[in-house]
Order: sequence, then C-alpha cells, then structure tokens
Amino acid sequence: MKPTLLRIYREKRDFTLTSEPRGKSRKRQQTKSLSFVVQKHQSYQLHYDFRLEVQGILKSWAVPKGIPNAKKLKRLAVMAEDHPYEYRNFKGRIPAGQYGAGFVDIFDQGTYEHAELQDQIQQEDKILHDLHRGKLSFVLHGKKFQGTYVLLRIKTKENQWLIWKLM
Ligand code: MN
Repeated sequence: MKPTLLRIYREKRDFTLTSEPRGKSRKRQQTKSLSFVVQKHQSYQLHYDFRLEVQGILKSWAVPKGIPNAKKLKRLAVMAEDHPYEYRNFKGRIPAGQYGAGFVDIFDQGTYEHAELQDQIQQEDKILHDLHRGKLSFVLHGKKFQGTYVLLRIKTKENQWLIWKLM
C-alpha cells in the first residue's frame, strides 16, 4: 500500500505562525493499539474533527453535528486531509488568518480496532483497504464514545461520508 503523505496538510499551514505539529513520518509498534481522537474545533463554524490512526498518520473527517452517541443516528462526516500522528494531542488556538483559525480542544480520545479483523498486524492494511472501498466498521474504546461504528462514503467527489453507531 502506498504510504500516505502529509503534503496537503503542510501546504495548508504556515508552521511559523500556527503551533500545530508539522509531523514526521514514524514507524509504528505493531503491538500497540491504534488511536482515535475527537477534537472540538470552534472555527468559523463549530464542528468536531474525528481522526483514526492508520499507518502512522490520522485519517480525518469534519463532523458538523458531532459523532453520534445513540444508535441509528446518521451524521454527515466530510473527509479532510490526512493529519500527522502528533495531531492527536493538539489543542489550543490556531491564529486568525490561518487555516482552521479558532480553538481546538480534545473532546475524546482512546483506542479503536477494526470491527471484524482481530489480527493486530493486518489491521491497518484492512482499515485502509476498507476506507478506499468506502465502508469501514470499527469499534471505539473512548470515554465518551464506545461501541461499533460505521463510516460510509456517500459522495466521492465531495468527500462526503456518513457516520453512525451500530451497537
Ligand atoms: Mn477542523
């Protein structure tokens, strides 16, 4: 599988002005659990950024109404550019004039896994494969968010997905 690059992420930002991490490529310990984070982002419009660690980066979606806590509630999730792994710990102010200007806070974080595949080593390939195909089922182990979730791509061109809680 082609390594994911942070080029788009870096092009959008001026790291002399924002304190967001530039990010570096990293090799992941295969035995470590995968991380997820939900960041509350008070920008031009309040939204929640949902990020899943896969192969050293964070696959990212902006969820305007937030990740659902109740079953069967479907929420729009707009896929954003890949973010660096270090971004999972980012909180604070993004200066005016910069991309995403406003305030970021960590709303929830924890670990996650593929809903069907148990094998730790093969997880990430399978997760990326499922994302390329447009449907991923996964289990969140966070404080606010727990249980099985689905991400389903509905409009490829607009990067539109739906996220809902299955159980
Ligand atoms: Mn955001």
